[in-house]
Amino acid sequence: MAELDVIAIVGGSLAGLRSAEALRRRGYAGRIVFVGEEPERPYDRPPLSKEVLAGKREPEQIALSKPEKFDALELDLRLGRRADSLDLDDRIVVLADGEQLRFDGLIIATGASARALPGAPTLPGIHTLRRLNDCLALRRELETSPRVVVVGAGFIGAEVAATCRGRGLDVTLVEALPLPLANALPQAIGAVCAEVHRDAGVDLRCGVGVDEIFGGDRVEGIRLADGACIPADVVVIGIGVAPNTGWLESSGLALDNGVVCDASLATAAPGVVAAGDVARWHHPLFDESTRVEHWTNAVEQADAAAARLLAGPDGAEPFAAVPFVWSDQYDRKFQSAGRFAPDDEMRVFHGSLEERRFVALFRRGDRLSGALAVNRGRQLIGYRRMIAERVAWKDAIAQAESADAGG
Ligand SMILES: Cc1cc2nc3c(=O)[nH]c(=O)nc-3n(C[C@H](O)[C@H](O)[C@H](O)COP(=O)(O)OP(=O)(O)OC[C@H]3O[C@@H](n4cnc5c(N)ncnc54)[C@H](O)[C@@H]3O)c2cc1C
Repeated sequence: MAELDVIAIVGGSLAGLRSAEALRRRGYAGRIVFVGEEPERPYDRPPLSKEVLAGKREPEQIALSKPEKFDALELDLRLGRRADSLDLDDRIVVLADGEQLRFDGLIIATGASARALPGAPTLPGIHTLRRLNDCLALRRELETSPRVVVVGAGFIGAEVAATCRGRGLDVTLVEALPLPLANALPQAIGAVCAEVHRDAGVDLRCGVGVDEIFGGDRVEGIRLADGACIPADVVVIGIGVAPNTGWLESSGLALDNGVVCDASLATAAPGVVAAGDVARWHHPLFDESTRVEHWTNAVEQADAAAARLLAGPDGAEPFAAVPFVWSDQYDRKFQSAGRFAPDDEMRVFHGSLEERRFVALFRRGDRLSGALAVNRGRQLIGYRRMIAERVAWKDAIAQAESADAGG
């Protein structure tokens, strides 16, 4: 730990803040330079598609840390400042305004950005949602009761559609795949998600792409590949995110849809680790290279990456936390743990698809690999633990059957 006089953390949000906290908690007393492109102190993103967009919470209510706790970290702040490049020979982060920050250790936590729809024009009324500013700009426009079209029925698009319906707005949700979340969930569960939206009054159009978003001074509508033309005052593009690695392109670090790390979240460069949405690492439990774009992973990786930096290669431990995700849509809470794909074998317990309240268990090989709960959060916790413990599929099924039988 002695040679790490200065640690730079680039990416001033969830993984960045939690790694700074972890460094201090683990006894690091050196200088921490904390660089973040956004001007705000770290805030929480999940409420941006839920309570803040709904007008039920304000920006000052979503800070990730109380001011006095944040101050106590004694960070050398560079907020509202973007890192432009990384020089690994001289161990310097170069900011867009030219400032050069020397470091001994570096935590990369630059997260991800919303993807733009290829070919879409730049018109007022067309939005993406990643930052507080995006949310407030969209929220202002929702106040005039616009007709909203959401492109993309992944988690963010589905949540925006739900929040807009909650505000009583006309909402069309367009998805190129045959069902919502079809690239992540089995058909039967995508169908539940589709029903939930249709019952709430969303005009859901699946299996159709976008031909054109059109307008004059501002957006006026959207033309779909099947010829349908949907008038819109506001269009929200929710087609996924891309990791923020542009500033690392000339650094020599391995990049592959994220910053490539080993199982302990370390890059090939000594003293350089990554955490959160930007990090790709080899997950030992599932034996696959992966990148996770969810809150709990950013928090858990931040702690692990800070520990790895302080411990050095001799203290390296694989990061093996079971991914956990939640999404709130209307009165349904979707929560999942582990890994699964649409074609994996699935069994449903603790309710049914018809009730829209259940836990679906997923199998890979002879193990329980994933679980997805709808309004069954309590049960999911146990399955997350079982996935971590590599519980056999037959034992997981036996336990689920016994619980359903009242055992
Ligand atoms: C609207 C919304 C709703 C969500 N809801 C949920 C949910 O319900 N459940 C869930 O599990 N997850 C949810 N997520 C995902 C979750 O918020 C992210 O996984 C989490 O924010 C990742 O944290 P991070 O710190 O890795 O990255 P980010 O939160 O993306 O933070 C990265 C930070 O780095 C900054 N940065 C980028 N490039 C540079 C640079 N070159 N120089 C300096 N700074 C830079 C960015 O501006 C940003 O502030 C949601 C995300 C959004 C956007």
